[in-house]
Order: sequence, then C-alpha cells, then structure tokens
Amino acid sequence: MPNELDRSSLPPMDVASRMGRLRAALGEAGCDALLVTSLVNVRYLSGFSGSAAMLLVLPEGAVLTTDGRYKDQSVEELAAAGVECAVKVGRGSAQLEEVDAALEGVKRLGFEADAVTVAQRGRLESELGRVGTGAVSLVATRGLVEDLRVVKDEGEVARIELAAGIADVALAQVKERLHEGLSEREFALELDFEMRRRGADDVAFETIVAAGPNAALPHAKPSGRRIEPGELVVIDFGAELEGYRSDMTRTLCVGPPTSSQMAELLDAVLMAQRAGVRAVRAGAKGEEVDSACRESLAAAGYEELLTHGTGHGVGLEIHEAPAVGQGSADILAPGAVVTVEPGCYVPGTGGVRIEDTLVVTGNGARALTKSTKDTIL
Ligand code: ZN
Ligand code: ZN
Repeated sequence: MPNELDRSSLPPMDVASRMGRLRAALGEAGCDALLVTSLVNVRYLSGFSGSAAMLLVLPEGAVLTTDGRYKDQSVEELAAAGVECAVKVGRGSAQLEEVDAALEGVKRLGFEADAVTVAQRGRLESELGRVGTGAVSLVATRGLVEDLRVVKDEGEVARIELAAGIADVALAQVKERLHEGLSEREFALELDFEMRRRGADDVAFETIVAAGPNAALPHAKPSGRRIEPGELVVIDFGAELEGYRSDMTRTLCVGPPTSSQMAELLDAVLMAQRAGVRAVRAGAKGEEVDSACRESLAAAGYEELLTHGTGHGVGLEIHEAPAVGQGSADILAPGAVVTVEPGCYVPGTGGVRIEDTLVVTGNGARALTKSTKDTIL
C-alpha cells in the first residue's frame, strides 16, 4: 500500500470570508438574512460536511443547526475552517425553534428555492413563529451561494488538481488491464479501487466505462459486457477530495480501432476538444467554448453527432455553474473551473468523448487533468 496521501502541502481554503461575501449580495436579492438548506452550500459557507444541517446567515453572525450525530463534528469543522458561528444541536422541530429565535430584527428571510421542497416550505411557514405572525416574510432566492462558488480560491483549485492527479495516476496504473478482457464493470471497479487506494475520499460520480456499441450512450452504466480488442472504450471518471471533484474522459482502444469510422471520429473529437480548450479564457462566454467545438466538428462533417453541451463547471458538485453549452451567456472568470468534453455518438456502433477539467487563468486556461490522449494501448 502507498503511504497515506500527503495533504499537508495543500494551501488552505478561505472559508471564513464567504459568509461576508454572501451578506453583500443579500440586499439585491430582497432579503436581509438567508436560510441555507442546500448541504453543499452549508459546507461551502461553514466547512461543516455532515448530512443534516441548516445555516442561518444573519446581517451579523450566523447559526448552524444540526442533530445529535454531529454535535462534536460540527464544532470541530467550523473551528478548523476559522468560521465564527453559533451551533445549535437538536431534533428537527427544535432546530426550527432555534432559527426562529435568531430571527429577531429580521424582516425578510431568504430561502433557497432550488433546495426547498413544497413540503419544506410549508414547514417553514407553519413552524417559524415569526413567519406565522407576519413579522418575517419568506423570500425565494436562487443561485446566491452558487454564484459565489463559481470562482475558486487557490486552496479549492489545489484540491481539484490533487483529485485530478489521483485520477490520472489511477488510469495509468490500471489501463493495461484492458488487455485482459475485463468487463466494463470490472474495469470501472479497478479504476475506483485505485483512486481510493491512492487517497481519494470517494469517486467524484459513478464511473462510466462504455465499450463498443455501449459507447454510443453518453451516460452509459458499466455493464457485464467484456471489452474486446479493436473497440473504443469511453472512460469518464473522477476523484473526490475534501468535497472537491475532478472530471476527465479518455477514449482508449486495445490495438488499432477495427472501425475506420470510429478512427475518423477519434481524430475529429480530439481536434474539437483542442479547439474548445483554446477558447477557454477569462471573459469568454460559455457558448463560445461550445461553438469552438461545434465548428471544428462541423468542418469534419460530424456536428450533428455531438448531442450534449460541451462542458460544465466543476467543484463541490460535479455539475455546477458556469454552463458551457449552446446559449450560455455565463462569462468565464479567472478561477472558474470548467470541463471541455465534446463527444460523437453513432447509435448501435460506438462513440468517442474526450474531456479535460481546466481552471480559467488571466491569459487562458490550465488543464488540471493531464492523462495522455493517446488512444491505442
Ligand atoms: Zn466527465
Ligand atoms: Zn463532465
């Protein structure tokens, strides 16, 4: 076994400043406090990584509520992140009572419309006493914390880069096993095991291994089908480290591709991916990166085979802002982390996809995923 992954050289993340940046955005959103119920957003703002919590961000101060399982972990993680925030532990109704008590002086309480079900909204209305009396009105908000998450600090980029590095090494370590006639599922397991063995906290998402005709499905689930020499294998996977995810796709083949059509598609997708990567720079719109890929594929006559968006932001979630697809007016800012992943799919025959995760810099972009794009094993 290798030594435990050395995380000591990772630069710290600036968690403590995030609630201040959120407060600065509340006025424009029409509220003076925000009840954060998206667990990913709770983690981003406070450092708390448990599976049950609410975070009330007030004009001054904040209150995190959770249940008894996380009594110690919550206090420890907030302290480690340097976040000053009251912690209240109790059952669901008791947590809402704590939130209600902390709303003294608040008139407009924002909630995250994308993270609250109709039933949960009903509970806020019936169990928050100040809402029931009309002293506090509820305001639906969207994307307030997600917008803050777009630009990553040095510590966040370093975690995504280390996750990407683990995935790179894992693929290099196990790809020769494709010669052994493993099934898609067996190969996916080898890859997942190698990432975990090398220090990943988890896989970033369910690994995709799709060979031959299965590769025509962009989000195929690994099957028990054996991987044959000469057929293209699309491998889309990533590692997770301290909540941050990497995302990479490589298309491999044991020996030369037996299908000349697939060999041509490989070249076309590789060119398109390069064109997309060149288009990633600060100030570009998401749709410009998408167009760069599509124009390259169109020149080769394959534009109609790209049936999904070219990319997406990556961070605490595998798909987050900014959008990198047709019609995306999202502006790429320095520090944003995005993927470029054109693919071509021929139903019943096969497919090709190549994907990198990149961080936008002042003068272009830097790839965080670094595995070779050589296809033939
Ligand atoms: Zn991917
Ligand atoms: Zn992706």
